[in-house]
Amino acid sequence: MAADPDTAAADSSPSLLSGWGRTAPTAAQVVRPRTREQAAEAVATAGPRGVIARGLGRSYGDPAQNAGGRVLDLTGLNRILAVDLGTGLVTAEGGVSLHALMRALIPLGYFVPVTPGTRYVTVGGAIGSDIHGKNHHADGSFAQHVASLDLLLADGSVRTVTPESDPELFWATAGGMGLTGVVLAATLRMVPIETSRLAVDTFKLPDLDALMEKLAGTDADYRYTVAWMDCLAKGSRLGRALLDCGNFATLDQLPAKHRADPLAFAAKPLAEVPDLFPSGLLNRRTIALANEVWYRKTPAARSHLATVAGFFHPLDGLRDWNRVYGRAGFVQYQFVVPFGADAALRRMVERISRAQAPSFVTVLKRFGAGSPGYLSFPTEGWTLALDFPTGTPGLDRLLPWLDEQVLAEGGRVYLAKDARLAAADLPAMYPRLEEFRKVRAAVDPHGVFVSDQSRRLGI
Ligand SMILES: Cc1cc2nc3c(=O)[nH]c(=O)nc-3n(C[C@H](O)[C@H](O)[C@H](O)COP(=O)(O)OP(=O)(O)OC[C@H]3O[C@@H](n4cnc5c(N)ncnc54)[C@H](O)[C@@H]3O)c2cc1C
Repeated sequence: MAADPDTAAADSSPSLLSGWGRTAPTAAQVVRPRTREQAAEAVATAGPRGVIARGLGRSYGDPAQNAGGRVLDLTGLNRILAVDLGTGLVTAEGGVSLHALMRALIPLGYFVPVTPGTRYVTVGGAIGSDIHGKNHHADGSFAQHVASLDLLLADGSVRTVTPESDPELFWATAGGMGLTGVVLAATLRMVPIETSRLAVDTFKLPDLDALMEKLAGTDADYRYTVAWMDCLAKGSRLGRALLDCGNFATLDQLPAKHRADPLAFAAKPLAEVPDLFPSGLLNRRTIALANEVWYRKTPAARSHLATVAGFFHPLDGLRDWNRVYGRAGFVQYQFVVPFGADAALRRMVERISRAQAPSFVTVLKRFGAGSPGYLSFPTEGWTLALDFPTGTPGLDRLLPWLDEQVLAEGGRVYLAKDARLAAADLPAMYPRLEEFRKVRAAVDPHGVFVSDQSRRLGI
């Protein structure tokens, strides 16, 4: 039977949904609207357990799931609506992925203003988490490049919101984890590029002090920086890392063979990872070995040209790479502490190393000033992101200890990566929570928009 185009594709039997970390799956009725009207209808008929928007499910924990309620899968709203090649303003529906934006716009000489470590996130998800990239120190977070957005509210109306016309609702939505409404479309300011390659300098840093000094010293010279740390290294090698620093290459930096097609963008997933890996495959022994090989094979310093995919999204080469952790999944943990909390950062890296907690991907970065988003994560300081297989011995003690250190330094944990934070810690980490609640109560007095995360944390 042909599908009724006027009805949102609603799967009446509940589907099990989880975040990218694959922990804490819950069942919800998933509705996949293809038009604004269908989205409004799905919100209006959500029922007592409410509704939450979901993009590509790349947040690690439970913000895009809603146990026993409705989840609005936005990936059916996936059209690029307008492109102005003069100004670089692009209007896209909320379910358009950054991958799709790159495929369409890199060949035209524009790059997304901010990209996370994967291209497979949606415009709505990028705003919902007010995501950051390797250029946060230079360009801030995603929402700072959003000129306007169309927000579907709890009462079914659609409001066009800009930072100028309604700063409170705009900045509550940026980083608001889908709790103010559904981003149906947004206009973004794209970044002009001459080529699709990056001129990258990689530095090998032998310990944490050298790494922090080098990171601080490279802020001004490179738009994009990130350090990949070996979190299992101990003693004099504690915090050793490879630091990647890059800028988009200019045309004259390209070798002749690439000049004919300087804006080429070919990025396909290489291979799908089967769902067969045993949960213990990634453990401290296998990760220590991988780190050793990776650190040794890199020369002390090297310069090279990288592709967008190779530089920004190395993990996207393997589709569903999260399956490598096995069915038990993994816990992502990302925090920020202010500059000046260097001693605390060192203590935390030491404790992680002492616990030999094997994080496969450990990334250190410097954030610039935060955005006005009430619940936006980035604030000026050091941010460290780690991922631990769920079965890691001692993790149940390590993570609360890290929370305590972060709190003591006036820092915070990233909600897009969170699956386990205690509700009691939220107000101190996000001191503008009350202001956020007021704005939310004004646009959604009956709490229609709700997620497993918002219930767990009492947002
Ligand atoms: C490999 C990997 C690397 C990553 N690297 C980074 C990084 O470097 N920096 C960073 O900041 N993040 C990073 N992330 C996290 C990711 O960028 C965010 O979780 C992002 O929000 C995911 O987008 P999504 O479309 O998958 O949204 P989902 O995960 O589906 O949803 C995330 C939140 O956004 C809300 N939301 C989704 N769509 C809408 C909409 N249309 N309207 C309103 N709200 C909506 C949801 O309700 C939810 O609260 C990474 C994730 C992965 C898997």
